[in-house]
Amino acid sequence: MAERFQAILVERDEAKKQSVRIVELGLGDLMEGDVVVRVSHTTVNYKDALAVTGKAPVVRRWPMIPGIDFAGEVVSSEHPAFKAGDPVILNGWGVGETHYGGFAGVARVKGDWLIQRPHGFTAEQAMEIGTAGYTAMLAVMALERHGITPERGPVLVTGAAGGVGSVAIALLARLGYRVVASTGRASEASYLTSLGATEIIAREELAGEGRPLGKERWAAGIDAVGSATLANALSMTSYGGAVAACGLAGGMDLPATVAPFILRGVSLLGIDSVMAPRPLREEAWRRLADDLDVGKLGAMTRRVAFEDVPEASADLLDGKVRGRLVVPVP
Ligand code: NDP
Repeated sequence: MAERFQAILVERDEAKKQSVRIVELGLGDLMEGDVVVRVSHTTVNYKDALAVTGKAPVVRRWPMIPGIDFAGEVVSSEHPAFKAGDPVILNGWGVGETHYGGFAGVARVKGDWLIQRPHGFTAEQAMEIGTAGYTAMLAVMALERHGITPERGPVLVTGAAGGVGSVAIALLARLGYRVVASTGRASEASYLTSLGATEIIAREELAGEGRPLGKERWAAGIDAVGSATLANALSMTSYGGAVAACGLAGGMDLPATVAPFILRGVSLLGIDSVMAPRPLREEAWRRLADDLDVGKLGAMTRRVAFEDVPEASADLLDGKVRGRLVVPVP
């Protein structure tokens, strides 16, 4: 393994002004951990874009190498579950927030945070899915645990053309669900249909103050947007249904009433990928290997050069990115 490697470092000056640059580091510069991984691929997730641009306080230790997920190969390990040469992936656990993350040629992390890369995925495909896709799978599994089946009716996906939304649509379609895709980008209608959406609705339909209870339009939902969108998604969920809430692309608030819960028995299911226990994340990746049509990953993925991560991060927050971004790491 090369002694030196590149990393994207975010720093703050005394006035708390944030800057980002590519630096060259050595193993001795990394934080503590019992496994060293040569990172081959990472991604730009929504949270990474916030960390790189500084638009929200994702980074909680300075300086920081962002990157909440990565795929790579174990170089050395003092953890009983891993040995040199093992293909591994990592999602969350505060990596890229409080512990140096995936935007670096080498990562040193706790072995407890790693899982073996699922059979059936290359490192690149695993990061095309990334934390956004793994979160979409967690949301689908939460709906299943609630008893949602394709026979119950269609499933709403909000933030449809984004990373979580794109993978959620592909998964739900493959599992036999009719999918109502909510997007602010009418121009992406044919893309969303190609992923498996059966109906496209405009983002505005779910924006603004809605009624406590609306017409029952879907049996369930996967919401990456939050705020009024989530409130309206709940108010239009049919009796006994559920909405899995995983994102805040439209806001962190929830201007809702309890009417859907107490008059229609609707449930709000919270989805967290960061601290999800190991058995759940392993199941999610197994399910992704079984239930995701990898043929659809190409259409939903753009490759980004390592040095272009800051620009791609700004694009993502500006709503200019379709699907997922994957970053080969030099
Ligand atoms: P993306 O930026 O790829 O997608 C977000 C999508 O939301 C956009 O593509 C857009 O879809 C829509 N959107 C953006 N801004 C607004 C707005 N102001 N109002 C309404 N819709 C909007 O991000 P990801 O898919 O990677 O992540 C989505 C959310 O999920 C983020 O908030 C992220 O933090 C969260 N997340 C949470 C995780 C967890 O563990 N709970 C894990 C991973 C992600 P369109 O153009 O189609 O309207």
